[in-house]
Amino acid sequence: MWDKREKKHIGKHDLHPESLMMSYGYQPEWSEGAVKPPIFQTSTFVFNTAEEGKAFFEIAYGLREKKGDETLGLIYSRLNNPGLEILEDRLTIYDGAEAAAAFESGMAAITTAVFTFLRPGQVVAFSEPIYGGTEYLFHEILPSFGVETVPFPAWEGREGLESVLDEAKGRRDRLAMIFIETPANPTNHLVDIRDCAEVARASARDDRKVLVAVDNTFLGPLWQHPLQHGADLVLYSLTKFVGGHSDLIAGACLGSEDLIAQVKATRTFFGSMAGPWTGWLLLRSLETLKLRMTSQMKNARYVADFLADHPKVERVHYLGHLGEGDPGFETFHRQCVGPGSMISFEVTGGEEAAFRVLNTLKLVKLAVSLGGTESLAEHPGTMTHSDIPPHERERMGITESMIRLSVGLEHPEDLIADLSQALDEA
Ligand SMILES: *Cc1c(COP(=O)(O)O)cnc(C)c1O
Repeated sequence: MWDKREKKHIGKHDLHPESLMMSYGYQPEWSEGAVKPPIFQTSTFVFNTAEEGKAFFEIAYGLREKKGDETLGLIYSRLNNPGLEILEDRLTIYDGAEAAAAFESGMAAITTAVFTFLRPGQVVAFSEPIYGGTEYLFHEILPSFGVETVPFPAWEGREGLESVLDEAKGRRDRLAMIFIETPANPTNHLVDIRDCAEVARASARDDRKVLVAVDNTFLGPLWQHPLQHGADLVLYSLTKFVGGHSDLIAGACLGSEDLIAQVKATRTFFGSMAGPWTGWLLLRSLETLKLRMTSQMKNARYVADFLADHPKVERVHYLGHLGEGDPGFETFHRQCVGPGSMISFEVTGGEEAAFRVLNTLKLVKLAVSLGGTESLAEHPGTMTHSDIPPHERERMGITESMIRLSVGLEHPEDLIADLSQALDEA
């Protein structure tokens, strides 16, 4: 039997996450000595005996407790698949999570997790601005299932959260989840995870847990580890940095064995698990994750410094430029390992100027999404965040002149040359 704990160190020496990305969760002797796990492109698995099939189903459907070191055998690829299990084991490493569940998209991870833990009559508080798909889920879908969804402004932090909870009588007594995205997209506002965890613990009762769920897509899993700051669930669009090559859509939910077992049970019936091919691409991506995210972060610093000095740039929103006294400075230093590679900046001349810059860029591609090897730029006001009413958008700090930039792996001098010629047209 493969012992997870044994494989994380050599003698007394703990192995680093980047070393584990090539080997953890897989042994070549399982697959004819293949150094890489093959793609198990199969819908179903043959049982050795009827008794074995019966035992696997008893565990899969929770009909009885596991005996000793008994594990769930392979049944059917909607429930489990070797590639998916290896991927999930590796996904736990950087975040220090007990367990992970992988999905065919970030939205599949978010919706499956939310429907696992929320019930009619309960309340979920969520930070704004938040990813458009999540916003739609909270504004349009959950209320139709009787879940009350309450936004709070990311930039008001704990006070904002406490005040929306106190706004309506009995709201705090029905609170079941605090869902945050930090840093917020596209403004890079930070939400303090520790504060949210304290509010959650204080609002919980013996018969009602309050979970803190963090969408960690922007900084994770390298530069922010929400579980260490009191979060219960970590959510990812693996489409972004983890996939990292803009060639797949996937997601994940991480947390304790107990919580992830519940999420996986829902996933079995929603059918939202990642498929074998997606899982295999992600295993390949994970091997270079640290290299990519580190280079992207270095490049972003050069680019952000260039933008901050440029006469046609009014404001740069970049975590690496937070100074003492700035809102978020203290949270950043306690909560984040690095500033990542997402930058938003505002040009002089409003939407027209921003569009001219976007239309003039040559190396940087004009596209939504982020975290890939190539740099991407977009206009949040008319693209990713266009469904937010204009006055709300302004209140969140998403202005007409704002451009969001995901910095890739190109040479920083080339990126700066491209931005420089484009800003000349602003
Ligand atoms: C892209 C994204 C999502 C949704 O992920 P998909 O993989 O597109 O379903 C969720 N949250 C954040 C922060 C994102 O950037």
